[in-house]
Amino acid sequence: MFCRLVREGDHVAKTDGFVAINDINPRADTHLLVLPERHVPSFREVGEFPPDEAKRMLDFVADTAREQGLEDYRVVVNVGEGGGQTVFHLHWHVLGGRVQGLPA
Ligand code: 5GP
Repeated sequence: MFCRLVREGDHVAKTDGFVAINDINPRADTHLLVLPERHVPSFREVGEFPPDEAKRMLDFVADTAREQGLEDYRVVVNVGEGGGQTVFHLHWHVLGGRVQGLPA
């Protein structure tokens, strides 16, 4: 699998090159992680995505949130150890409903 976070059958949504899964330790009523299959270690390297792929990734974050029934939500990306990142494969946290603090 392209990232240790993702296991067979975990997906709540999938599109070409991207998946969304439930966070194993949710910090909110809904806590999803959106990941690219392309290995990019962190948001710092987001420029490694071709422009069309970067746009598709952002569209997928928004589409997934909507499909999970979220209208209002937060999108968080932890960048680097000092920024709370613990898994070094780019992922977008999508947090909806009651939030119990920032994911770290
Ligand atoms: P980070 O701290 O890197 O921004 O976010 C990593 C996230 O991955 C955390 O919110 C953590 O709860 C979640 N996580 C860690 N291990 C697993 C796992 O094996 N499966 C899933 N689905 N989430 C995980």
